[in-house]
Amino acid sequence: MIINIPNNSDFSINNIPFGIFSTAERSKRVGVAIGDQILDLLEWSKAGFGEVESSYFDQVVLNPFIKLRKEITNQLRIDVQDWLKQDADKYNEYRSLFVSQMDATMHLPIHIGDYTDFYSSIEHATNVGKMFRDPENALLPNWRHLPVGYHGRASSIVVSGTPITRPSGQVLNSETKAPEYKATQKLDFELEMGFIVGKENTLGHPISVDEAEDYIFGMVLFNDWSARDIQKWEYVPLGPFLGKNFTSSMSPWVVTMEALEPFRIDAPKQEPQVLPYLDSDRSRNIDIKLKVELETPSGTNTTLSNSNFKYMYWDQAQQLAHHTVNGCNVRVGDLMASGTISGTTPESYGCMLEISWGGKKPIIISDGTTRSFIEDGDTVVMKGYCQKDGIRVGFGELSTLVRRSMD
Ligand code: CA
Repeated sequence: MIINIPNNSDFSINNIPFGIFSTAERSKRVGVAIGDQILDLLEWSKAGFGEVESSYFDQVVLNPFIKLRKEITNQLRIDVQDWLKQDADKYNEYRSLFVSQMDATMHLPIHIGDYTDFYSSIEHATNVGKMFRDPENALLPNWRHLPVGYHGRASSIVVSGTPITRPSGQVLNSETKAPEYKATQKLDFELEMGFIVGKENTLGHPISVDEAEDYIFGMVLFNDWSARDIQKWEYVPLGPFLGKNFTSSMSPWVVTMEALEPFRIDAPKQEPQVLPYLDSDRSRNIDIKLKVELETPSGTNTTLSNSNFKYMYWDQAQQLAHHTVNGCNVRVGDLMASGTISGTTPESYGCMLEISWGGKKPIIISDGTTRSFIEDGDTVVMKGYCQKDGIRVGFGELSTLVRRSMD
């Protein structure tokens, strides 16, 4: 290997995720993460390597590269892997093609045209249904028949490392029964994964569940920030709005579906049987270990959740088939998020709403204070990786500091 890659690195030779970086000397451009380094694909291609013209890497987003389609982007990934396998003594010759991740600033890697958020974890939907509606009939009648979703807001998606500001809005005062305008008291994260659309369909032509995987370029960690008090007052009857659209955060490195392929796993059985247009190969879930940590201003660190993407009831192919079954067209760079990923136990719940059960069961964190929701000065860190047979493919970190309201 031309550089040393630590054994526990998310960015092994098997990964090769794509992102947009800059340094003091280098303008925004496409790179791949490898170990604790970035391979500068613009300089690499200018040096004559790979089959993709260097202009595709002299870009502020990945969209033009992704539009080349998988035949090209997959080959590029393989060419990079082969090149990295050179002897370490070649490093000196090519050191200018590498940048330390410590010295780089990561940017939002995609121009996201549209963002759709699903609600595909049965554990999460059941828990929220119990709290917001009916403990006996937590799942609404449609839930097992279609992947419920809504159209989110693309403009407010930010990359890891971007602080967010506590939003204000209308909240119902439970005593006076009148709405008030105030900073949210129930700021929450949602542990999700997002996928990036890599191929367009034509308006009026649905994507079938069997061909859907070909339309997915790769995945990121996704934190769909939520203001639960604003959400609870506003969501009837049209669903999420200002309680959701103030910010969502995503990780900077897009991990390709090809890198994730070795970690496929059977999905939970669907009962009742779904309609034929949603009837997918149920071996298409992915075993991605997920973790959420809370860092406080005093420097303490508490694990809030250990979950796994494999719990998803509806898989990504089903989500994309359902999204387009009415003829809706998707475009390269669209982002589709999974919905909060909760497992079966409280240790695996994917948001504070569930972890603290709506604030009724505050948790004690490692500095001795309690949390029902996220406080000003807290940093929420999400991590995700796959590991099998000594191979590790990960997403790095998605880290977001919460600042106090501007009021
Ligand atoms: Ca969500």
